[in-house]
Amino acid sequence: MENCLFCKIASGIIPSNKVYENEYVLAFHDIAPQAPVHILVIPKVHLDSMNDVNSETSVYAVKCLEAIAEIAKMQNLENGYRVINNCGEDGGQTVKHLHFHILGGKKLSEQMV
Ligand code: AMP
Ligand code: ZN
Repeated sequence: MENCLFCKIASGIIPSNKVYENEYVLAFHDIAPQAPVHILVIPKVHLDSMNDVNSETSVYAVKCLEAIAEIAKMQNLENGYRVINNCGEDGGQTVKHLHFHILGGKKLSEQMV
C-alpha cells in the first residue's frame, strides 16, 4: 500500500525502533508510549484492520499473536500485559494497517475491559 505508514515501516522506508521481526511480522516500540512497555505488532502484509481477517488472511493475524507471546517473554512481561486492537472509527483506529498493541510494565488501568 503506497501511502500506508506501517507498510513503509515494514519495508524499512520509515525507520522504527524494532524489537522483533520474522518472515511475517514486525514489532516496534510505539512512538507515543502509553505504558512503560508499549509495542506495536504488525503483519508485513497490508491488511486494513481486523475487518480484513478471514479464512485466507487469518494466518497473518495468527503470526502476530504468536509473536506477541514471544515478545512478552523477551520483554520480561511475566507479570502480565494487555493486547489491544483498535478497529475502525468507533474503535479509535488511527493507522489503517492491522496492528496489535502490547501494553505492560506496570499495573494497567481496569477502566476498559
Ligand atoms: P491506533 O490508534 O490503534 O491506530 O494506533 C496507532 C499507533 O501508532 C499509536 O499508538 C501511535 O502512537 C503509533 N504510531 C504512529 N506513528 C508511529 C511511528 N512512526 N512509529 C511508531 N509508532 C507510531
Ligand atoms: Zn499497510
